[in-house]
Amino acid sequence: MARVVVQNVKKYFGNVKALDGIDISIEEGSFVVLLGPSGCGKTTLMRCISGLEKLTEGEILFDGKNITNLAPKDRNVAMVFQSYAVWPHMKVKENIAYPLKLKKVPKKEIEERVRWASDLLHISELLDRYPSQLSGGQRQRVAVARAIVHKPRVLLMDEPLSNLDALLRIKMRSELRKLHEQVKVTTIYVTHDQTEAMTMGDKIAVMNAGKIIQYGSPEEIYKAPRTLFVAGFVGSPQMNFLPMKVISHKDKFFAEGFGLQIPLKKDPGIESVIVGIRPEHISVEKRQDSIGFEASVYFVEKLMSETVIHLSVADDKKIVVKVPGDVSFKESQLVQVHLDLPFIHIFNPVTEERIE
Ligand code: ATP
Repeated sequence: MARVVVQNVKKYFGNVKALDGIDISIEEGSFVVLLGPSGCGKTTLMRCISGLEKLTEGEILFDGKNITNLAPKDRNVAMVFQSYAVWPHMKVKENIAYPLKLKKVPKKEIEERVRWASDLLHISELLDRYPSQLSGGQRQRVAVARAIVHKPRVLLMDEPLSNLDALLRIKMRSELRKLHEQVKVTTIYVTHDQTEAMTMGDKIAVMNAGKIIQYGSPEEIYKAPRTLFVAGFVGSPQMNFLPMKVISHKDKFFAEGFGLQIPLKKDPGIESVIVGIRPEHISVEKRQDSIGFEASVYFVEKLMSETVIHLSVADDKKIVVKVPGDVSFKESQLVQVHLDLPFIHIFNPVTEERIE
């Protein structure tokens, strides 16, 4: 396994800036998720690390060694794709053994390593089947076994679970994570599914438009998003954003709007701010350290374990509240909503960065 460092990497396709100056340092043996909307450059970054794509600019280092110009086969990187790229004419065991055969590993060692990988992926019973005799989930396990069988320095996975049904996805999420704990190969995992990112990654790199906007632990990304983009992209339902005016009163500063005055820690030096608060940090009951206003219910989503309430507030603004349990509300009902002050974020509407 290797520490992977990507330095100022740019990749242009004509005038499309697929990667626009990527810097990231990935700890040896860690599991890093690249998260971002479609087209933000996730796959391109993976292809650059694997050597399938040539860089326009920048460098990639494995364990301090510059591998930018090394051919893919000399990088000892394995890749798993969304489409389970297993060879249909080969039995499972031949599929898994294939990378070792290419490397001319002795037959006995191949057998041992195939057994090792198939035990880890719980597919030992399937070794004599052909891919057509497997389910989608089983085929993806074969693809992963084949990727790890030669103990790569870096394992790249590009949306490996996208083709699986919802239940299987959840199961495979924890299995891939467990597998990583056993094998400890440096893993870079692409997804646009934030739940996958939050539950699997030691660290998450949130990407947008060819750039990494924030790189941190799932907790950092959730609790301290650097920008409006990160705040809006991570969390479901999305964070509420309320535009407010900045006022000062006796040397203290407040964000004012929707009948609220939210105390600010310091002078933001701008006339307006965007107040961000997640649906789970708003309640319809008074809590300690909260601040409230009136709103009317216009739509309720009952998920039984939780209830998502869509509310209309002043100026026809909508906010979303998530409360635990099965709570009954009627449309048009007036409710008092309370924002939990410790969970409020303040953003600069121009730079889109979080101020506090
Ligand atoms: P998705 O989640 O949809 O797979 P992504 O984040 O992986 O998206 P990329 O596939 O890396 O995004 O694409 C980044 C940008 O580069 C997109 O605008 C895409 O159209 C463009 N792009 C990717 N490959 C090529 C190519 N071979 N030729 C031209 N443009 C390309």
